[in-house]
Amino acid sequence: MSIDSIRIHCTGCEYEYLEHFQPITLKCKIGDEVATYYRTTAWCNQCDTIRYVEHIPTLDELQEDYDEFKAPFTEPPATGIRKFISLIFRGGRPSASDVRRSESIKKLNTQIAWRQARIAPPHCLTCGATDLTPIDFEQVDEHTSIAKNFRHSCGGQLVRDHNDDPGIRFHFRDRTIWMDIEGNRLDDSEMKTDRIMPS
Ligand SMILES: [Zn+2]
Ligand SMILES: [Zn+2]
Repeated sequence: MSIDSIRIHCTGCEYEYLEHFQPITLKCKIGDEVATYYRTTAWCNQCDTIRYVEHIPTLDELQEDYDEFKAPFTEPPATGIRKFISLIFRGGRPSASDVRRSESIKKLNTQIAWRQARIAPPHCLTCGATDLTPIDFEQVDEHTSIAKNFRHSCGGQLVRDHNDDPGIRFHFRDRTIWMDIEGNRLDDSEMKTDRIMPS
């Protein structure tokens, strides 16, 4: 996978950050099942830079997925002649779509069970700290976004230039990181080792 990167710089000092949009999937065991979630970026006050951090969806967001997912399946259960036909033609076995549906419902129930058990705040994926500040970039013109909710320690503002293409493309493998229910990484590999090759 080859993805463009963007550059974020500080108006008050030399601070610079390159965002490479590395695809990362976070996985957490919950009982015999595995919940899946993703990362976002935030300022890590311990690393003192922008880092990948856990994105923990709210229960409402998960519930929304669930409702969206359930909507197409509101047909009434097979009874009478439809049940009879189903028994004749499929020997009473569940159809492929029934199997897919129950697998998806199971998966969503796993996500909800994980979210209910996940009380700890998001962790930095590099150092494990929870002292994080979300950065919300607001677009100010065609080419520039500014983090209005955040000040760098030097007093400057972080600016993201949309047309400031560093001219580098990075190739990333989709990466899976196993996490525990508290938000601690279960592997201790370096976050930087999976940059395969700049081209
Ligand atoms: Zn600065
Ligand atoms: Zn950190």
